[in-house]
Formats: sequence, C-alpha cells, structure tokens
Amino acid sequence: MTAFRHNQTCHFGLDEAPLAPGEVAIVGAGPGDPGLLTLRALSLLQQADCLVFDRLVSAEILAMARPEARRYYVGKASRCHALTQEETNALLVRLAGEGQRVLRLKGGDPYIFGRGGEEAEYLIEHGIGFRVVPGITSASGCSSYAGFPLTHRDYAQSVTFVTGHCKGDRDLALDWAALAVPHHTTVFYMGLANAELIRRELQAHGMPAETPVALVERGTTPEQRHVLATLGDLVEVIEREAFRPPTLIVVGEVVSLAETLAPAMTRLARTPEDAIDALAQGMGRVAL
Ligand code: SAH
Repeated sequence: MTAFRHNQTCHFGLDEAPLAPGEVAIVGAGPGDPGLLTLRALSLLQQADCLVFDRLVSAEILAMARPEARRYYVGKASRCHALTQEETNALLVRLAGEGQRVLRLKGGDPYIFGRGGEEAEYLIEHGIGFRVVPGITSASGCSSYAGFPLTHRDYAQSVTFVTGHCKGDRDLALDWAALAVPHHTTVFYMGLANAELIRRELQAHGMPAETPVALVERGTTPEQRHVLATLGDLVEVIEREAFRPPTLIVVGEVVSLAETLAPAMTRLARTPEDAIDALAQGMGRVAL
C-alpha cells in the first residue's frame, strides 16, 4: 500500500492479497474513533461486498465502506443480541458460500473478548477461508483518550484484561488475589453489571478502598465521558452518573495520572466547529 505525505511517497510493508470471493475477513474496527482504524482494515472495508457488524462499530466507520456493500447488523449488546452467535456464524458461512467478499467488523480487537476465535473455528469447520486483522482494543483507546497510561514504571508493571461478564451468566470466577496486588492495573470489560462483586472481591483480597478507578463510557467517540473514582465508591458512582455500556472499569494507581496528563493533552475536535477549524489548519482527517 502507498500513501502520500508532503509530496513524498511512503510504502507500507503491506503486500496483502485482495479479499477473495467467498472469503471472510474478521476485522477489528477499534473502539470508535475512525482515526484509530488500521490501514489494513480500511483497505478491506473498501473491497467488501457485505459487512456483518456489531453494535460497537461506529457509523462513521461503516460509512467508509463501498456504498453498494450490503450491511448486516448482528447486535451484541450483552443479553440482547440481534442475532445469536450461532445465527451470526451461519450468516457468515452463507454469505461466503454465495461467493461474497465478507467483512466481519467487530469493535476493538476481534481476539479480545470479541468472539473472533469462535467465529474463526466455525469458518474452519465449514471450509471457509478467512483472515484476521487486529484492532485497537478499547482498553488502549480509552486509557489514552481519558489521559492515563495502563502501565508506568512507578505505578504498574503489569496489566490484566478481564471480562466482567460470563457466558450464560455463570458466576465470575476470577483469580481475585492475583488482581488485587499492588503495582498492577486491571481493566474490566463488560463489568458494569458485576461492579458490586468486583468491588467486594478486590477489597476482600486486600485492595484498599481508596485505590483509584476510572470509568470510561463510549471511549474515543464524541460521546466519551469518564469519571475518576475510588474502588470504595465504584458502585455509587456508576449509579449516580448512570453509566451505561459500553463502559470500561480500570482499577489501579495509573488512573491517578489522569489528573496531570489529561488537562495537558491537546484537545481533539469534539464539535463540528472544532473539526472545521482543524481542517482549515490542515490537520483534518484523510479524505476518503
Ligand atoms: N473486542 C472489544 C471488546 C468487546 S467486549 C475490544 O477489543 O475492545 C464489549 C465491552 O468492551 C464493552 O462492554 C465495554 O466494556 C468495552 N468497550 C468496547 N468499546 C468501548 C468503548 N468505546 N468505550 C468503553 N468501553 C468499550
């Protein structure tokens, strides 16, 4: 692939075969901001005959596909699927079987709590060729946009991504002792409904009530809102501020860095006027 910048040509090491008829590309769309889409995702988006997408894929990203591409919404709000996973799997196989070039677009990264692995297994069982394109996972997007790192040599040497929601509403069986250690960051995906359990178990395993926690809702989108709280008042803050999915809960000392880093960051265009200003200054988005 080739891109042009300041009249220079730069080549990406991206000798990707075109999406073939009857093939499925399982592609991460990132957490929302179209600027976080990868070049591979964009290239495949512009080749696909049909898109099979989740709730978390932003409208701006869908708008980058070919206008004639057929669009299939398969939902994925927890407990409220437009299609079951089995129906989604079957749809992918049917569309590929018709010889379509299929783009399976997922929020964030398809292999991080995205069921990309399950879909890939199903495609193999049915003899369908596929490729997988990683995306920026919401933990990365939300932490950057809310103004804190996930690791920092002074505050956290490790980070764990955890699902706060289990298949078939089974109990959340996590290694709480391993998560409650100091100098560690834990990111809970899909954690809102189990926030009280998360608070209780982490405190029961020795984590102090004053440990900083960030809640980031719709991170990297114009609707992003985030609140810095503590473990002890996590549930109260979720209720008071009426947080709704998609929200990430990030627990650890790194979160407190948002107080110094966030105000110092260059603000992103948040309103159409801001976006026009940015364009006028030559900083706008790439024209597609
Ligand atoms: N594959 C996705 C995760 C899917 S699980 C990824 O890599 O990010 C769905 C959960 O991800 C949501 O319940 C929420 O906890 C989190 N999430 C996804 N996008 C988000 C966003 N823009 N802002 C906050 N949380 C998000």
